[in-house]
Amino acid sequence: MKMADGSTILRRNRPGTKSKDFCRWPDEPLEEMDSTLAVQQYIQQLIKRDPSNVELILSMPEAQDEGVWKYEHLRQFCMELNGLAVRLQKECSPSTCTQMTATDQWIFLCAAHKTPKECPAIDYTRHTLDGAACLLNSNKYFPSRVSIKESSVTKLGSVCRRVYRIFSHAYFHHRRIFDEFEAETYLCHRFTHFVTKYNLMSKENLIVPINVGENAAPGESEA
Ligand SMILES: [Zn+2]
Ligand SMILES: [Zn+2]
Repeated sequence: MKMADGSTILRRNRPGTKSKDFCRWPDEPLEEMDSTLAVQQYIQQLIKRDPSNVELILSMPEAQDEGVWKYEHLRQFCMELNGLAVRLQKECSPSTCTQMTATDQWIFLCAAHKTPKECPAIDYTRHTLDGAACLLNSNKYFPSRVSIKESSVTKLGSVCRRVYRIFSHAYFHHRRIFDEFEAETYLCHRFTHFVTKYNLMSKENLIVPINVGENAAPGESEA
């Protein structure tokens, strides 16, 4: 993009960039983004501007392919969830959390293995984020980031269900870490609104209490 004075804006962190100047380039309108990564760039730009503006971040631009929109959001969620995983590993270990649990109701099995197994929570977290990254980068299901087959879009729901358990484990077992992370990123808020808006998860699985519209998400779920 050319500036009026003829200089070009380079949206890139050059070697030696100070942390306060990281990613400090001006926003770009979606219509002017001309790469195949435009949707990702657009979503990241909105998040950087204000991660709490969930409505705006999830408002799909006109003429946007909905499959790609959902795919790019989920990709972004998984990338940001790695940040929560890094914080969790300070206090979540195979000895403190031997199973992936949230409330006492369920033990979640890790689907990253030939036969799903009871991985400790932190291993579940890593295996599941790795598995999600593998699927979302798979050439077989997602060969393009410009158009996505409907049969591949249907894969997104199970990824959502699995990665959501990372939020619920953090919320019920590592509340301080969850709250600090959430205060900075609004990630669980955004995710809950996202899966609700696009019907990617059923309401009774959304066990971290977060208000979506007027309907409060179920806090204490019935037994
Ligand atoms: Zn834990
Ligand atoms: Zn595992």
